[in-house]
Amino acid sequence: MDTISTITVLSASPDTAQKAIDAGFAQLTHLETLINYYSPDSEISAVNRAAGKSPVAVSEATLDIVSKAVTISRMTNGAFNPAVGPLMKLWKFSRQEIDRPLPSRDTILSSLKLVDYRKIRVDTSSSEIYLEEEGMEIDLGGIAKGYGADKAVEAIRLHGVRSALVSIAGDIRGFGLKNDQKPWKVGVQDPRSGQESPEKEGYQIVTTIELRNSAVSTSGDYQRFFIKEGKRYHHIIDPRTGYPTESSLMSVTVLAPEGFMADALSTGVFILGPHRGRRLLESAGFDGILIDTDRRIYPTEQLKRRISILQDGYSLAE
Ligand code: AMP
Ligand code: MG
Repeated sequence: MDTISTITVLSASPDTAQKAIDAGFAQLTHLETLINYYSPDSEISAVNRAAGKSPVAVSEATLDIVSKAVTISRMTNGAFNPAVGPLMKLWKFSRQEIDRPLPSRDTILSSLKLVDYRKIRVDTSSSEIYLEEEGMEIDLGGIAKGYGADKAVEAIRLHGVRSALVSIAGDIRGFGLKNDQKPWKVGVQDPRSGQESPEKEGYQIVTTIELRNSAVSTSGDYQRFFIKEGKRYHHIIDPRTGYPTESSLMSVTVLAPEGFMADALSTGVFILGPHRGRRLLESAGFDGILIDTDRRIYPTEQLKRRISILQDGYSLAE
């Protein structure tokens, strides 16, 4: 998944802990072989190549993640849209920020016609996926890490351990309590700290969240981006325009019982912006923390009373 993953397991037996960790990573590796957009051998690449031509039979996991992705597309009114493949191919974001030419407006506009999640057909009875237009491409980058955390946790639980934390970049799922009998605590990163080299320099935390058998995901404009002529171009693309979304947000953190939901919603809510995004989370019954470019924080109603801000310059939005 082109990122760093960590699995932490608590067990009285080091051997059990190691086996559980291995099982978690095996799930992630397996999932990657099925859905990696960049590997020609993945099932997703086969589905993409057959776009406009024929349905492709896929494994249960691929069918499951694609149908979950389509469900969240509907839920977010198309803000989350796994058909963004053709646009991602044009923008080519990577973890290195490099100044480079922008894709032309014409190429963006012609790719935009192919970005339609309603043309993704998932047939559960025959286990097939069909993309209705030639040139369409599914990209699961906005949901795969959270889904992977779910699968890893499932495998870890089979080993009978009491407590574990799986984190795949900003997509995290935990269960059980830590050694000190407290819940896992996850920091929400200051979107503008540690920009040069987060692994080396560390980063500041705006607030923390406790995980009780649940998942948390953060989407931000600082994860994959470049700056050109003073403007930030990041990897969360507005499927209505084909350009990086300008929703005034820097980051969105979503809490949900399952990782796939937290992951896909954090991406979708980022595009919807602070007001529509927060309303969607509240009406769907999930907690979240949205941070805008003026360093204003928009927690969902339930979190408002509990949140403490740990970083200077940040404040609660009205
Ligand atoms: P995340 O880090 O979970 O917010 O996901 C960002 C990734 O999701 C990008 O690198 C793309 O692969 C994909 N993506 C970008 N824009 C969208 C979108 N509007 N809907 C769904 N996936 C997207
Ligand atoms: Mg996401």
